[in-house]
Amino acid sequence: MSQTQRRAKQDVSELAIFGGKPSFERPLHVGQPNIGDRDRLHGLLDEILDRRWLTNHGPLVTELESKLARLMGVRHCIAVCNGTVALEIAIRALGLKGEVIVPSFTFAATAHALQWQEITPIFCDVDPRTHTLDPERVERMVSSRTTGILGVHLWGRACDVEGLSEVARRHRLALLFDAAHAFAVSRRGRMIGNFGDCEVFSFHATKVFNTFEGGAIATNDDQLARRLRWMQNFGFSGYDQVDHIGVNGKMSEISAAMGLVGLESLDEFIGCNRRNHARYAELLAGIPGLQLHGYDPAERQNHQYVVVEVDQDAAGIGRDALVELLHAENVLVRRYFYPGVHRMEPYRSLYPNAGLLLPVTERLVTRTMILPTGTGLSVEDVDGVCDLIRLAVGQGAEILARKARAQGPRGTAAASARPPPRLAEAAR
Ligand SMILES: *Cc1c(COP(=O)(O)O)cnc(C)c1O
Repeated sequence: MSQTQRRAKQDVSELAIFGGKPSFERPLHVGQPNIGDRDRLHGLLDEILDRRWLTNHGPLVTELESKLARLMGVRHCIAVCNGTVALEIAIRALGLKGEVIVPSFTFAATAHALQWQEITPIFCDVDPRTHTLDPERVERMVSSRTTGILGVHLWGRACDVEGLSEVARRHRLALLFDAAHAFAVSRRGRMIGNFGDCEVFSFHATKVFNTFEGGAIATNDDQLARRLRWMQNFGFSGYDQVDHIGVNGKMSEISAAMGLVGLESLDEFIGCNRRNHARYAELLAGIPGLQLHGYDPAERQNHQYVVVEVDQDAAGIGRDALVELLHAENVLVRRYFYPGVHRMEPYRSLYPNAGLLLPVTERLVTRTMILPTGTGLSVEDVDGVCDLIRLAVGQGAEILARKARAQGPRGTAAASARPPPRLAEAAR
C-alpha cells in the first residue's frame, strides 16, 4: 500500500493549501480498516452459507467468544452487534439509573448510551497527562442520585482502574469501562476486560480489530453474564420463554468470521501500528510545540492512536491550521474528540454549564490531533507526514501570513478553491 516515493516539500509555496500538488494521491486515514487473510474469509463465508446458520449464536460466534475470552483471560465474553448497543445493554443489565459519571473527552456514543436510557451523564474532567478520568474529580461529583461510573480507556491507555475501583467501592457504585480503544491492552500485566463490573469493546471497521460492525462485553461476574445474554436476545431464556426485557444485540456469523480471520493477523496489525508509532516518535522528536503521546512499554498495547498535542504558542501554528494544511495534502488527521461531548447536542442544551467543570477537557479539544496509522500506512507514508509537519511548524509564521493574504479582499483564495478531501469511512 506504500505510495510512490516523493520529494519532501521544501518551501511553503509548494503546500497544497497554496495551490501545490497534494503530497499524497490517495487519502491517508486515521481509521482505515485492518483486514486479515481474504482466502480464509471467503472459505468461512462458504461454510456459513453451506450450514445455513447465519446468526443466532452460531458456531463462529461461539468460537470467536471463546477465543476473545481466552485472549483477555476473562470468564465471559459476549459478542454483540456493535459497541454502542453493547454499552446500552451493559448499562441496563447493571441496573444503572439517575446519574452516571462519565468523561466528556470521548466519542459521543459513550454518553449517548446513557442519555438514550434517560440516565443523566455527569461529565467529569480528565487528567491532563493521561486523558482519562481523574478519580479525585470523580469522587467530588458523586451525589445521592449517582449509580455508576463509566470510565473510558481513551487512546487504548487504561484508566486509573485502581483509583476508580476504590471510589466505586466507597460509594457502592457500579463501575464499567468503555474499552472501545483498548482491545488487546493490559493494565499492570492484566488484560483489559477484567476490570470493573464489566468492560465493553467495539469492533467497528475503524478499530484496530474489526468485525465490520461489532462489539463485546467482558465480565468475570457469572450472574451479570447471564443477564447480558438474555438482554441481547430479546430476553429469551428458553425456546418459548421470555423472562426479561431485551433487545436484539446479536452478532452475525459473517461478522464473527471477519473477527476470527482478523485475530489470526492481530499481531501483524499491532506490529504495524507499533512500527508506525515508533517512526512518528523518532521524526517528530524535537519539533517545538508538538507532544506525541507515548505508551507504557511494560504493558501490552495496540498503538491504535497516534496522539499529538499542539501548543500553538510554542509551535507558531495552531492545531486547526495544521489540520487544514494536512487535509489539503490528503493527510486526513482528525480532531478527536472535538468539541467535547458536552458541547454536542442534546448535552449542550440540556447541561449548558457543564463546561465550567471541564477546564482540562476544554483545553485538550483545542490541542489534540490524531495522525494516520494502521496497516494501510507504510513507513514512507509516515516519513511524508512528518516532513509536512516539520515544514509547517518551521514556517508557521510565513504560512499564517500567506493565509491571511490569500483570504484578504484581493487575495486569490487558492485554499478555498480546493474541494474538501473525501473522508470516506473514517469520516466520523
Ligand atoms: C467506536 C467507539 C464506540 C462505539 O462503538 P461502535 O461499535 O461504533 O458502536 C464507543 N466508544 C468509543 C470510545 C469509541 O471509540
